[in-house]
Amino acid sequence: MFVKCRRHRVLIHKILLFMVTVIVLMFLIRELPEREITSSKQIQNNIIDENDENDEYEIKLRTYESKIIPNLGHNGKEATLKDPEDNELGEKALKSVAMNYVLSDRIPLNRSVGDRRNEGCKKFYYNPTLTASVVIIFYNEILSAILRTIWSVTLQTPEHLLHEIVLVDDASTAEELKGFLQYYIDTRLSGHRIKLHHLNERVGLIKARLEGAKLATGDVLIFLDAHCEATIGWIEPLLARIEESRSTVLTPLIDVISASNFAYLSDADYTGFQVGGFSWPGHFTWINVQNENDRGKLTPIKSPTMAGGLFAIERKYFWEIGSYDDKMEGWGGENLEISFRIWQCGGRLETVPCSRVGHIFRDFHPYSIPGKKDTHGINTARLAHVWMDDYKRLFFMYRPKLEYSPLIGDITSRLELRKRLKCKSFKWYLDNVFPEKFIPDENVLGYGQVRNNLNMCLDDLSLHEGTTGPLGLYPCHAFSATTQYFSMTYKGKLRSENFCAEISNTLEVQLTRCLKDELKQSWIFFKNGTIYNSLFAKCLSSEGVEVPKAVRIDNCKDSDHQKWKFTYINSTVIT
Ligand code: UDP
Ligand code: MN
Repeated sequence: MFVKCRRHRVLIHKILLFMVTVIVLMFLIRELPEREITSSKQIQNNIIDENDENDEYEIKLRTYESKIIPNLGHNGKEATLKDPEDNELGEKALKSVAMNYVLSDRIPLNRSVGDRRNEGCKKFYYNPTLTASVVIIFYNEILSAILRTIWSVTLQTPEHLLHEIVLVDDASTAEELKGFLQYYIDTRLSGHRIKLHHLNERVGLIKARLEGAKLATGDVLIFLDAHCEATIGWIEPLLARIEESRSTVLTPLIDVISASNFAYLSDADYTGFQVGGFSWPGHFTWINVQNENDRGKLTPIKSPTMAGGLFAIERKYFWEIGSYDDKMEGWGGENLEISFRIWQCGGRLETVPCSRVGHIFRDFHPYSIPGKKDTHGINTARLAHVWMDDYKRLFFMYRPKLEYSPLIGDITSRLELRKRLKCKSFKWYLDNVFPEKFIPDENVLGYGQVRNNLNMCLDDLSLHEGTTGPLGLYPCHAFSATTQYFSMTYKGKLRSENFCAEISNTLEVQLTRCLKDELKQSWIFFKNGTIYNSLFAKCLSSEGVEVPKAVRIDNCKDSDHQKWKFTYINSTVIT
């Protein structure tokens, strides 16, 4: 009896154990659904120990992966979510970090954005032998955006060309960018030679890129922002061109990925792409390809500057040419510095239209830069002192307080570098690389603010480059406002850095693209302050103009509305 009973108990025990195991397994299968994305290494065993850090990551990761919606945003199409609550959260995300991460988290990390190349590009055959180290730096970026950047690089780069991916975490505070990201790399991207390096202290994007470059060992450095997507065929033309000319630094065509719906916006036929320029207040600008014969070409095209986030440079050349100015902090200015330096010191900058990489352009920076304010201005002041010779006056005209600011720091080592590399002058750069660049105080009768006798000023009303809008009237600013700088050129143009004043059919004056020999853009400036157009035989006038509307032309008369004074006058040449 006793024996039978014991046997019974053992049997019941076994049955119970079996049932518990079945229930636990069923629970696990339900809770941990199949992953949506392909992983390079399957997790070996499915038994999760909640106390183990890695297993905690695994649970978190599978939950995350289970929310990914297959084919959402496939081929770079606009992505949308059905749940209005998600959309509301997405809107909030856009306002707080300038990127809809609610949506980003649901789009497959390994989505393809399709072949974005112009048809003509597919005829080119490249066979580079150089290898690339792709360097991606980040500070508190959205994890799914970082991972999509990495996936796009691993998937779109032939294995033999990708030496490694170097990730530099600029001391992010977001927890998931530490152990969890490393765990993701170890389990989902193992075998792809990805180095993740965490900096102990936030150093800003310039020094973070320098750290990445130090860690890299491939032939060519390719820097990408942490919210990019590389497309088919992106790397071959970059490496091939560098193989041909090691002192040529390249940018891909940077396409727009929407920060709100992740649509890859640029179409493949897009040949009207732009290259890099700059403005005298020290900003990067997009400009049309200057030489008309070059427009529509698919071979690499000269670019006076680069945007800065995405570029390829031979690794040893990067160090030879002076890498970055390591005393630049935070964000900004480094792209114009490296651009001027490359050109002035014997290199070249080109845009490669057959290499297409998407970038999420955010409406604002979702981060602040601790300590220093206006690092862009301070960094630009450094580069102006080092590279722009006399032309730095034009930057400091807009930023007078920066010229002798102690915040600029010591520039000796950069001046030495310039000497050691025997670099050419900024005038050489303007004459040879960017002859189209308008110089506001050369060959002009007057420049600066243009004030009438009633103390009102001409103002471009922050007109967006490449568009047309009113030449407005506005109270004169006491500071050097970029919107109120105009020049009266020898050739009779009344113009700002990017626009010329033109008379419209309604006799209002507009700012638009400068055209040669256009009588509606021709003005004569007289000593008495009159600005006259001979086609209409009328004078520039502010009479009856409601601020901030456009000034007009009117019958010439002796009126305070028709007397204009420039801040600086070249009195020797005015009639
Ligand atoms: N970044 C960084 N440290 C900083 C600021 C920015 O590592 O202090 C990274 C950022 O995460 C991004 C890259 O630098 O990957 C370029 O910054 P961002 O995209 O904000 O510049 P933008 O594209 O607006 O020029
Ligand atoms: Mn960016």
